[in-house]
Amino acid sequence: TSFGFKEVREEEKSKLVGNVFSSVASSYDIMNDLMSGGLHRLWKHRLVSKLHPFPGMKHLDVAGGTGDVAFRILESIKSVRYRDVQGVLDGFGETQIYVCDINPNMLSVGKNRAIEKGLGDEQSLVWIEGDAEALSFNDLSMDGYTIAFGIRNVTHMEKALAEAYRVLKRGGRFLCLELSHVEAPLFKQIYDYYSFAVIPAMGELVAGDRESYQYLVESIRRFPNQETFAQMMADTGFEKVEYENLVGGVVAIHSGVKL
Ligand code: SAM
Repeated sequence: TSFGFKEVREEEKSKLVGNVFSSVASSYDIMNDLMSGGLHRLWKHRLVSKLHPFPGMKHLDVAGGTGDVAFRILESIKSVRYRDVQGVLDGFGETQIYVCDINPNMLSVGKNRAIEKGLGDEQSLVWIEGDAEALSFNDLSMDGYTIAFGIRNVTHMEKALAEAYRVLKRGGRFLCLELSHVEAPLFKQIYDYYSFAVIPAMGELVAGDRESYQYLVESIRRFPNQETFAQMMADTGFEKVEYENLVGGVVAIHSGVKL
């Protein structure tokens, strides 16, 4: 049976989302690989390359979960070669990548992953428990903001967008990677079958948790389509709003700048 999510009152949504991610935290990374056939790696890579990370940047990754996006940003910054070596040393010392997530279980899986990657003492990575709708960061404090597969789970998306806008500096970039909407008719049928039949079954088999993955599929349906979300960003105040569809709209990357 489904969660009957439309009937669930708003106040209960946050709690429900919390339960879902507490229950999936330990199997989260393997399920990502399975459900997307490993494609989420390419999508996150694309997200980070669109961000153009740079040494010394202050970056906030919201709904950062187990740290996937943050690790990639850090990797990308570390791989940058600079002609001015002194500049690298000066700039790099100040790099701060904040991983903010409402769920402490996801963050602790992330911290363990950081240790496994030899990033346990990495000063640039900061793990913070917090809500996308009420960030604890100062106005105009971030060069970049990313949210990957996260905004769909937030109860009031407009509040999360307003918070993103608030914490970004002028010229700061907003990027959102999210499961979105497929238009092409035949592909849509295949995708619908995959998501309604295969994903919950996979969730049951691998994570022993059908309901959480049923919730996932329903939350994708409820998410606004590409144009509507772009409009919401523009209404928040973002400029140069655009989006890129990947795999025919299975996933979209929306971007915007605060000017
Ligand atoms: N960004 C990570 C990734 O791409 O692998 C994790 C994505 S996971 C599907 C969604 C995450 O959003 C979960 O870790 C969940 O705890 C978090 N989340 C849900 N609601 C949130 C909120 N209001 N504020 C911050 N994080 C939230």
